[in-house]
Amino acid sequence: MIYLDNASTTPLDSEVLNAMTPYLTELYGNPSSQHAAGRAAALGVLDARDKIAKLVGCASDEIFFVSGGTEAGNWALKGACAADTARGRHIVLSAIEHPALIESARDMQRYGYEVTFVNPDESGAVKPDDIARALRADTVFCAVMAANNETGVIQPVEEIGKICKERGVFYYCDCVQTAGVLPFPVRHCDALGISSHKFYGPKGFGALYIKNGAAISRFISGGNQERGLRGGTTNAAAAVGCAVALENAVRGKEEHNKRISALKDKFVAEVLSEIDGAHVNGGGEILPATANISFDGCDGENVLFLLDMNGIAVSTGSACSAGAVKASHVLTAMGLPESRVKSAVRFSFGKYNTVEEVAEVVAALKRAVNGIRGTGC
Ligand code: PLP
Repeated sequence: MIYLDNASTTPLDSEVLNAMTPYLTELYGNPSSQHAAGRAAALGVLDARDKIAKLVGCASDEIFFVSGGTEAGNWALKGACAADTARGRHIVLSAIEHPALIESARDMQRYGYEVTFVNPDESGAVKPDDIARALRADTVFCAVMAANNETGVIQPVEEIGKICKERGVFYYCDCVQTAGVLPFPVRHCDALGISSHKFYGPKGFGALYIKNGAAISRFISGGNQERGLRGGTTNAAAAVGCAVALENAVRGKEEHNKRISALKDKFVAEVLSEIDGAHVNGGGEILPATANISFDGCDGENVLFLLDMNGIAVSTGSACSAGAVKASHVLTAMGLPESRVKSAVRFSFGKYNTVEEVAEVVAALKRAVNGIRGTGC
């Protein structure tokens, strides 16, 4: 298989698995237990929290373990709204946020919250001025992600963070696609979320940074885990794995980014020269690993299917809901025509991809697109 869907998930590194294994076998104590077995697991959790905090650039007590990027976004949005009901009931989101944020905001609409969605420009970047215009005296929460998962377009989070700070609005930055790729915008936001399976760590685990003093309510009621804000037995093995994976990602960042962008740039250049009517979606600064490309006269789902038949894994931004395919909300918000939205495919590179694979994918893609267009193979 040629795996070009690393923005969806990445394989678990063997070094990460090795670090996790003792906590899945002999160190099985509950980290909240008072006895030696519990303390041994708690030590692993403590160490993982310290490591992750150091890598994020914050204090250890500002890191809260969660089940991943979806929970981080849900907690930030719902927790910030619940903590500051006196200020009002208005939420500002970029229209290109992950469903973790969009659906959370929709949940809050049922409780009388108003939501303003701010569209990006045609390049896929959200303009800080547009966010400033959307904020109101009763805005309690704003979210603009560090980089978009479909296009890879990097967002101006520093400027947006400054605006939110000036206006006293809680700012959440979804860093799921940028952890281990870009620096964490920790000084510019009140909270940020990461997900371990995006950087070769275990699935179902992540961290939410919450700035000390930021107003946020607890999310999961239960035991006293995560300083009483998020109940549930801590997954020690996943915490340890997440810390090792993030350490590796941050340590190898420059080299990784250089290698991956060279692969991706070669791929994009070859696609554009070999296949007529191919268009890159998104502009400006884009993540090294991500390329979102539309193919005139094709349906992205069909391209995906034909590549899959050739053992190549990619994705489209469309979501399947109740059996019907829903067009990408990200490309639609960028104002792209429907034909371009429907024909988009996302290719996302990872550390195991090779130059040889690039050539193979371009050839298979050309066959698939020509086949769909009926122009022969
Ligand atoms: N936010 C972004 C930008 C993502 O790309 C994803 C996953 O694709 C998530 C949130 C959700 O993360 P998780 O799978 O850990 O729930």
